[in-house]
Amino acid sequence: MLLDFRSQSRCAKMPRVSLLEIPQAEKKSFQRRLLSWFSARKRDLPWRGTRDPYRIWLSEIMLQQTRVAAVISYYERFLEKFPTVEALARARTETVLARWAGLGYYSRARNLQRAAKEIVAHHGGKFPRGYEQALALPGIGRYTAAAVLSIAYGEPLAVLDGNVARVLARIGAVRGDLRASALWRGLEAGAQELVTRKSPGDWNQAMMELGATVCTPKSPRCEECPVSAWCRARKLGIAAEIPEARKKRATEKLTLAAAVLLDPQGRTFLLRHADGDGDLFSHLWQFPAMETSAQAGSELQNHLHNRFGVTVRGSTVSLKSARHAVTFRNIQVWPFLMRVAQLPDFRGAKTVPLKQIGGLPISNLTRKIAAAAIVHFKAEGGLTGTKTRTLENHNGAAAKA
Ligand code: SF4
Repeated sequence: MLLDFRSQSRCAKMPRVSLLEIPQAEKKSFQRRLLSWFSARKRDLPWRGTRDPYRIWLSEIMLQQTRVAAVISYYERFLEKFPTVEALARARTETVLARWAGLGYYSRARNLQRAAKEIVAHHGGKFPRGYEQALALPGIGRYTAAAVLSIAYGEPLAVLDGNVARVLARIGAVRGDLRASALWRGLEAGAQELVTRKSPGDWNQAMMELGATVCTPKSPRCEECPVSAWCRARKLGIAAEIPEARKKRATEKLTLAAAVLLDPQGRTFLLRHADGDGDLFSHLWQFPAMETSAQAGSELQNHLHNRFGVTVRGSTVSLKSARHAVTFRNIQVWPFLMRVAQLPDFRGAKTVPLKQIGGLPISNLTRKIAAAAIVHFKAEGGLTGTKTRTLENHNGAAAKA
């Protein structure tokens, strides 16, 4: 098979690309080799061996931008709480987000629940079988639709993610930015030509597994590869040069000051979507914060006074700073402990004992700030009304204090 899609592109500068020179007569043996390798070598993962579309869908959403090892415990705990699509659909969003806390990219959890509600309302509680119907659900793109439909229902739809794209690009010795749209479309077409009709779910998982475990981004282990006989990049000795590095967006540095307000009962004050910085805190509960150019305790006090009418009692305590990376941003937060006689009564805000905030949907950044406050209280000999020394989230993980 030779797919040369120069003719499909209107861009004169598009690099010449010939993808997958696998003769038609050899395609079946290529497929057999990969499938039998997968059957013998696949990793034992909790979402393998099920045909339940809900479980497959959940695993695919959790695995987006997250490592397999990190997902496993979240996946199991999430299913303990929400074992069916109906249970997820009727849960409170706060509870869903709390179970997701720590995984990051919280829009995935919100979309997952929105889609669950649509599935219950319009599809009788069953993930739809049709590609277009699946694509119409919140948070479902071409990759996820193809993965769920092929694995759960045996639909012959090929997936294309970063792992599969890299494998295909090396087999075809394809150069260039694989995410460039014309090139990506060519890879999609190549993936679709290869997918087996008989067991497309296994086929897709085999391609992804090969990319994740053998045809890895750095140092591919070609000597262990079941399809090395068809790999042009290996023959040409250029496997490690593919894919070419993408141009990265420049990293932005951001400095924030955050206030851990504390009343005499040990309660603190949290907001959501505050001051346009909601995306830094994943739109979850957060301490009031503001962008600053330096350590800015007094600037923060003014901000709190003007915005929330807060008057701080006595001096503020500068807590250990926290660092956090969100996509292209490197964030440094200077947290301040500020004691107040009374927490502000502010629409959409929440007052909660500081020791209990680990049970709310909060981002890792908020968790780090709270942990810095706990460290301070440990040094002082304990937080008012509590002997709590760590923050626990709903997944049982303790933030180091
Ligand atoms: S031979 Fe090497 S580069 Fe080619 S697909 Fe296999 S692991 Fe990847």
